[in-house]
Amino acid sequence: MNKYDVIIVGSGIGGLCCGSILSLAGKKVLICESHSQPGGVAHSFKTKGYKFESGPSLWSGIGKWPTTNPLGQILKLLDEKVELIKYKGWHVSVPEGEFNLEVGQDPFEKRIKLLRGYKSVEEWHSFVSEIKPLSQIVSEIPLLSSSPESINLIEIIKLASKFLPNINLLPKLNGGFGDIADKHLKDTFLRNWVDLLCFLISGMPMHDTNSAAMATLFDEWFEPESYLEYPKGGSESIVKALVNAFKKNGGELILSSKVKAVNFSNNIASGITLENKSKFISDFVVMNTDAWTSRKLVPKEIAKKWLPKSKEIKKCGSFLHLHLGFDASGLQNLPIHAIHVDDWDRGITAERNVSVFSIPSVLDKDMAPKGKHVLHGYTPANEPWQIWENLKPNELRYKNLKEERCSIFLKSLRKIIPDIDNRIEIKLLGTPLTHKKYTNTYCGSYGPALSAAQGLFPGCKTPVKNLLTCGASTFPGIGIPAVSASGAFAAEKIIGKKEYKKLLKMIDL
Ligand SMILES: Cc1cc2nc3c(=O)[nH]c(=O)nc-3n(C[C@H](O)[C@H](O)[C@H](O)COP(=O)(O)OP(=O)(O)OC[C@H]3O[C@@H](n4cnc5c(N)ncnc54)[C@H](O)[C@@H]3O)c2cc1C
Repeated sequence: MNKYDVIIVGSGIGGLCCGSILSLAGKKVLICESHSQPGGVAHSFKTKGYKFESGPSLWSGIGKWPTTNPLGQILKLLDEKVELIKYKGWHVSVPEGEFNLEVGQDPFEKRIKLLRGYKSVEEWHSFVSEIKPLSQIVSEIPLLSSSPESINLIEIIKLASKFLPNINLLPKLNGGFGDIADKHLKDTFLRNWVDLLCFLISGMPMHDTNSAAMATLFDEWFEPESYLEYPKGGSESIVKALVNAFKKNGGELILSSKVKAVNFSNNIASGITLENKSKFISDFVVMNTDAWTSRKLVPKEIAKKWLPKSKEIKKCGSFLHLHLGFDASGLQNLPIHAIHVDDWDRGITAERNVSVFSIPSVLDKDMAPKGKHVLHGYTPANEPWQIWENLKPNELRYKNLKEERCSIFLKSLRKIIPDIDNRIEIKLLGTPLTHKKYTNTYCGSYGPALSAAQGLFPGCKTPVKNLLTCGASTFPGIGIPAVSASGAFAAEKIIGKKEYKKLLKMIDL
């Protein structure tokens, strides 16, 4: 039977970051992935020359150096380069109007002035001036080198001296971002806008979204020289870079290998069993699975040491997806991204109220056949699981409901491309059942609804010896930066702080 230092269950971005750092540190690592492709929700698939994305589309802070983005730091550490296409603009469709918006403070202020007048610009100013010192603290504390669970007093003192004048602001970083918005923003558009940004980052409204995660975003999106990045070749290029780093240092990745159970000897994690009954032994096991799946993989008496019962873990909603391949002829100045909000009054969490579109072929022609565009649309974490859970994909009721509920996508898309219906070559619709099937997430959920208002996040450590976790169930803000950092922190727990610091020193962190 093969013996490994570490086995990682799942090859999401968190698991891949963890695995590639461990293999760089000389550990013998096996990653077992249930799906036929690595990357978790960041995987893509090809049909008729189109490359369809299934998950993340908004990337930033990866290509520059120095960067506060943990994934950017990890790629640098691994000496992996991903070609990134810089861009600045989005298309925004909100009840107040339709407009193109660039990242950066100035374009947004100009837009506020046009939409809401000077008083609202002043409100935004005072809001941003409270966030700036928080962003500064976040950039002074390189996330990767400050694992919240293992930072010691001396390190805290060293770090604190860097931002001494702002030390009183530290507690704010852990709180909900909504408290800061409440203090400064009365304008309904601005409040709704902040709520929307928070929802896109955490799957929750602003009062539940962690301020540190938002301070990082504001640092990246509202600086004068801000820009966004699209990885050439899509998310897959990021996944390929991580897999490459993992394998070049001896890591083994097995796909289509669903883990049935994590095994224990004397209550210490000791390996895994796959569904096909193969067993693998290891000193450590890291679960990159969501909290509900993790619960299922370990015996009840072990799970109850730290995980609440599945029903007690509050979950974010799921997704509707639209994948389109369409004729690009005559379409000028299409945005790479567009966001549509139907009605602010229904709230940002309301079902079928917000849709996000990304058309990566606008920037990267290789994502679609010549003369065509590829589009991914989704409703972000607000599709209720309950209305789908008892349906079967081959029954008519399911097919009809899918068409009906996904019709919102074309309704909003017609605002950007009026004749979109006549241009479509391929149309694929996805529901929470589809999302669950291809991402192996519980109820197709975005992840646990870990509210910043409640304070603590589970982190990577478990009370069970040699069992760790990483990914969207562990760290504030579900997105790529958070899961990447969580993977690094899990690696740190295994190789030890001294070894980990030695690695980070290679990139001056
Ligand atoms: C539609 C969508 C859009 C998004 N947009 C953005 C964005 O623009 N920017 C951003 O920063 N973030 C975005 N996110 C969030 C971000 O993509 C995710 O939070 C992140 O990729 C999750 O990574 P993870 O490490 O938690 O693992 P996951 O991606 O959840 O992967 C876990 C892996 O574990 C595997 N697995 C599960 N059970 C088993 C088992 N029993 N055995 C073996 N393997 C198993 C799964 O197959 C999966 O591959 C988006 C998410 C979605 C769904």
